[in-house]
Amino acid sequence: MFKLLWMLMLTPTLSIASLKAPLLEAQNQTSQTVVLILLGPPGAGKGTQANILSDTLQLPHISTGDLLRSNIKEGTELGKTAKGYMDQGKLVPDDLILDMLFARVANEDCQRGYILDGFPRTLPQAEAYDKRLGTSAKTIALNLSLSNEEIINRLSKRVTCKECNTPYHLIHSPPKTEGKCDECGGTLIQRSDDKEEVIQKRLNVYEKQTAPLIEYYSKENALKQVSCSQSIDDVLTEILDYLREIYRSLKEE
Ligand code: AMP
Repeated sequence: MFKLLWMLMLTPTLSIASLKAPLLEAQNQTSQTVVLILLGPPGAGKGTQANILSDTLQLPHISTGDLLRSNIKEGTELGKTAKGYMDQGKLVPDDLILDMLFARVANEDCQRGYILDGFPRTLPQAEAYDKRLGTSAKTIALNLSLSNEEIINRLSKRVTCKECNTPYHLIHSPPKTEGKCDECGGTLIQRSDDKEEVIQKRLNVYEKQTAPLIEYYSKENALKQVSCSQSIDDVLTEILDYLREIYRSLKEE
């Protein structure tokens, strides 16, 4: 009986582990730079999936929200301007975001590819980014979807590490020690924009400004739809399966 329970607990981890090896093999066989874009409403799980994918594929995870929060923490001019927009649930102006992102992706660690989380958020951002990238990289957009009810439930119970930004859900994925990050021991806080009244504003902004990107990337034939009402492991399994096929097709090109 115990053995059976133990095996059931291990099953998702084992199946994910078995997906990683063929994916890495396919990744190693192509020299093409791959940019993964994680689209989806706030709270869909972009940060969580991007962290795991970054670890699996050994590609940097670039979150424009995290870059902005670092600027706020450091008290830069960009941080001061961005905070005003973020606390109201609004988007930070495109030109500020593009300058910040282009500076980041010019770094050496982005040569083989990277994972974008929270960018692009508007059509002008997507167009400016595509123009800069040209044909130098293969772009793949993953659209992580979730109902508004579930988003509000997730975000209002979300806490994030002040130091390394690892997210936790107080009910579904709580930290081992209350208030402390499992990864780095940092203090867990609720983001000022995860308060219920700001969440609703962020959802409205998402519908108006970011959702049109789904059509933009599906027209470019570079979009994979992923439902995030499943478990984290099931979402990851679906993504890893898809990416393996993408890397294999790149090898054949
Ligand atoms: P996130 O951490 O992705 O949920 O972003 C938190 C907040 O940062 C957003 O509500 C925006 O105010 C701002 N932000 C992050 N990324 C962008 C972006 N690509 N364009 C404009 N604003 C952004």
